[in-house]
Amino acid sequence: MDAKFLDILVCPLCKGPLVLDKTRQELICKGDRLAFPIKDGIPMMLETEARELAAEEEVK
Ligand SMILES: [Zn+2]
Repeated sequence: MDAKFLDILVCPLCKGPLVLDKTRQELICKGDRLAFPIKDGIPMMLETEARELAAEEEVK
């Protein structure tokens, strides 16, 4: 996934910027502490697909 693609993606809940976690292939919203999965290169920008970040997970 290239950076331009990432630029146009925002959190569906707060419309805030997302951080790409390349290791996990997730897009993270720091504000909501949600991680949206990327499946086969396609970001799943749905609240129902998102994973809540655990308290101990450090958001970069
Ligand atoms: Zn958000």
